[in-house]
Amino acid sequence: AFWTYRSRRMQKKLRKIANHDELTGVFNRRCFNELAKSALSYYTTTNQQLSLILFDLDNFKQINDQYGHHIGDWVLKTALYTCKNLSRKNDIIGRFGGEEFTILLPGCDQKKARELANKYRKAINRISTEETGLDFQISASFGVYSSNENNKLVDTDLETIIQFADKAMYFSKENGRNKVSVYGIDLV
Ligand code: GH3
Ligand code: MG
Ligand code: MG
Repeated sequence: AFWTYRSRRMQKKLRKIANHDELTGVFNRRCFNELAKSALSYYTTTNQQLSLILFDLDNFKQINDQYGHHIGDWVLKTALYTCKNLSRKNDIIGRFGGEEFTILLPGCDQKKARELANKYRKAINRISTEETGLDFQISASFGVYSSNENNKLVDTDLETIIQFADKAMYFSKENGRNKVSVYGIDLV
């Protein structure tokens, strides 16, 4: 029984390693995509709302260059810890690339998604860097894509949704960073 227990625990551990990003603890890209795709097909067939947030840390290269890679890592870890603490039960957070993250919000409409993105944005911006012995501010730019009455997600695949959210994120960058932009409202 002990060995069974140990090997089950080991399997669980291995699964966690395979599905999660080591540094931040959120889902890795492959796992996020898998979970998001099944959520997407469920929510479209049941005609429910769904939103996707994509965010990218601002001037992150400068943080690395100025304070070192280990401080950059601390920023990533702390920012995502903050996000995880804010997330609701069914939200799926993934690391999309280096300092770029996706959050899938099942059952969430456009208005609520903007509200939540702003909540994440403010929380990241409020992070204190005191424990690093340094004094600098962290911010991120956000892009949101949501299904709505006119724009049901039918025929829209995850890649396309991410592309729209990415466009909105770049719109936030162009408009001064530390902002939330919603595809279809702030830009088309
Ligand atoms: P922008 O506001 O336009 O997004 O500027 P940026 O500097 O954040 O963007 P850029 O893409 O030029 O730089 C991203 C940097 O993130 C470059 C890369 O070295 C760094 N990076 C990616 N992954 C990690 C990581 O895991 N740890 C650390 N410390 N840095 C990382
Ligand atoms: Mg960046
Ligand atoms: Mg980037």
